[in-house]
Amino acid sequence: MMVQHTENGKVQLRLKISLKLHQLNSLLFLLLVCALAFGKAGPYPLSLRPYLTFVLLFSVVGVIVKEALYNRQLYSRYFWLIDLIDVATVSFIYHLGFFSVNFLLVLYFFLIFLSIREFIPGETCYITLLSLVGFGINAVLLWPNYQLLAPVYGPGLFLYGFFIGSAFVSLVLVGIFAYFYAKSDFQLARHLQQMLDEKEAALKETYLTHANLEEKYAFAYTLTLIQQFLLEEMDETNLLTRITDIIQGIAGSYSCAIFSLDKDNTLRLAASSGKQLPPDLPEFVQRPDSLVALTIKSQSIHNEESASFAERKYWAEHNINSLITIPLSTKNNKLGVILVTNAQSFSFDQDQQEQLMIIANQVSLALENTRLHKETKLMAWHDSLTGLYNRNYLNIFLSIVEDSTNNRLGCMIFDLDHFKVVNDTYGHTTGDVVLKKLASVLTKHTSPGRIAVRYGGEEFIMLDLNSSAEELYALGEQIRKEVAALKFWTTAGEEFSITVSCGIALDHTGFDNVFSKADIALYQAKNQGRNQVVVYGGEGDEVGVAEEETPCRP
Ligand code: GH3
Ligand code: MG
Ligand code: MG
Repeated sequence: MMVQHTENGKVQLRLKISLKLHQLNSLLFLLLVCALAFGKAGPYPLSLRPYLTFVLLFSVVGVIVKEALYNRQLYSRYFWLIDLIDVATVSFIYHLGFFSVNFLLVLYFFLIFLSIREFIPGETCYITLLSLVGFGINAVLLWPNYQLLAPVYGPGLFLYGFFIGSAFVSLVLVGIFAYFYAKSDFQLARHLQQMLDEKEAALKETYLTHANLEEKYAFAYTLTLIQQFLLEEMDETNLLTRITDIIQGIAGSYSCAIFSLDKDNTLRLAASSGKQLPPDLPEFVQRPDSLVALTIKSQSIHNEESASFAERKYWAEHNINSLITIPLSTKNNKLGVILVTNAQSFSFDQDQQEQLMIIANQVSLALENTRLHKETKLMAWHDSLTGLYNRNYLNIFLSIVEDSTNNRLGCMIFDLDHFKVVNDTYGHTTGDVVLKKLASVLTKHTSPGRIAVRYGGEEFIMLDLNSSAEELYALGEQIRKEVAALKFWTTAGEEFSITVSCGIALDHTGFDNVFSKADIALYQAKNQGRNQVVVYGGEGDEVGVAEEETPCRP
C-alpha cells in the first residue's frame, strides 16, 4: 500500500511539473511573439499583425484554459483538449518560422514527450523520428520566411544553418532523453499493472470462493429438503418421480430419468421428468453396451464420452448432446441408474457430478428403504413358503368385499390327499416342494375377483366373486386334474404324484357360513375316496362329485 501511495504521489507531481512547464513555455512564447511582432524592431510586416494578434489571443486563452482545467482537477479528463491547444501552438510556432523560437519548439516537443501517458519506449522512438522528419520538412518549407526574416538574422546562411542545426541536435537529444525516461516509466507502469492484476486476481478469487460457498449452501439446503422428503415418502413411484423433478431443477437439465433394476436383472423406466425422452429408450438401455447398462455393470458414473458411436448417434438424433449416468446402489444391492441429459455439450461440470453422486446415495438408501417397506408389507400379507396370500390378507379382502358387496361369495377349499404320507416318506423338504407346486397351479387360475389363499398347512382356499357354481365346479375339476398330472421326484430320484380334494360352496350369507359349507363338501370329497370335487348343496348329496381312477399314492 505504501509503495503504491508513493508511486501515485510521484505521478501526480510529475503531471504538475509537466503542466507548469507547458504554461511557462507558452508564456515565454507569448512574450517572444509580443516582443517580435509588436516591438519596434519586429521582423514581421504590419499586414501580419491581425494574424499575430490571433496567435497571441489563442495562446493567452490556451494558458488560462489549461490552468483552469488543472485547478479543477479535470486535467486527466480533458487531456485531449490540452493536447489540442499544445499542437495548435506548435503549428503557430512552425508557421511563424522565426528560428529563435525553434528552441521553444524543441522544448514543446520535450513536454509532449513527457506528457505521453502510455510510456512505451518503442513508441517514443517512433514519435521522435516523426518529429525529426516533420522538423526537416518544415525547415525546407519555411525557406520563404527566411527571405522575410533575413534582416533579423543578419546576412548569410550561417546563422540560419546554426539555428536549424542546433534545434535539430536538441531534438535528437530530447528524443534520447524521452526514450530512457519512457523506459523507466514503462517499467513503473508495468509494475503498477502487475500489482493491479494481482489485486484483481485476489478479488476474483474471493468472489469465486464466495459464490462457491453460496452455491454449496443452496445445495445443502436442497439436500436437507430431499432427505426430509425421502424419509417421508414410502411409495417408490412417487419417490422416484419427485427425485427426477428435483434433479432436473438442480442440474438445469433437459430431462432426467431413473431406471430401476428389477429382480430378474431387467432395467425398467421407473420415473422421468423434463422434456420427453425417446420413446424407445426403455428398449435401448437393455443393450449391454448402453451407458445405462455400463453404469450398472461398473457401478461408476459415466458421461457421453464413454458412449459407443451408435449411442452418441442415437442421442444426437434426439437433440441430446451431453448426458450423465449415476449408479443407484447400496452396499449389497444394485438398484438402478439415474440418467440426466442436456441439449448443450459438456454441460455437467465436476461440481454437479459430485452433487448428483450425493443425491444418488441418498436416493439409493431411500429406495432400499421403500423396498424393505414393501417387502415387509408383502410378508405381512403373503405366505412366505408359497407366496400366496395369507389369512391376514384374507381378512382385509373380506372386510372390503363384505362391506362393499352383497354378492354371492364362492369358496373352494383344496386339501392335499394323504399329504402326511408324503412328508413321512420323502421328508418335509419334498413336502414343501409339493405345496409350492400346488400354489403355482392355484395362482395360474386367479383373476380379478378371484384370489388364492394358503389357509392352513396344506389347506388352500380360493374365493371367487363372479363365477357360478357350475363354473367353480369346472375350475375345481381343472385344478384337480392339473395337480394329479404333476410329477415329483424325490432327492433319491424316485418319481411320485399327488392328488387333491376340493369342497365348494357358494352363497351370500357371508364368509364364515360359506366356508363351513365348503368344508363340509370337502369332508364329503375325502370320505368318498379323495381326488374329487364336491359342491355343497348340489343335487343330492353327491351332486358335482367327480371321481377318477384310484388316487395315486406316494
Ligand atoms: P388327508 O388326505 O385326510 O388330508 O390326509 P393328510 O395326510 O393330508 O391329512 P393331515 O391333515 O393329517 O395331514 C396334514 C399334513 O400336512 C400334516 C403336516 O405334516 C403337513 N404339513 C402342514 N404344513 C406343512 C408345511 O408347511 N410343510 C410340509 N412339508 N408339511 C406340512
Ligand atoms: Mg389337511
Ligand atoms: Mg390333507
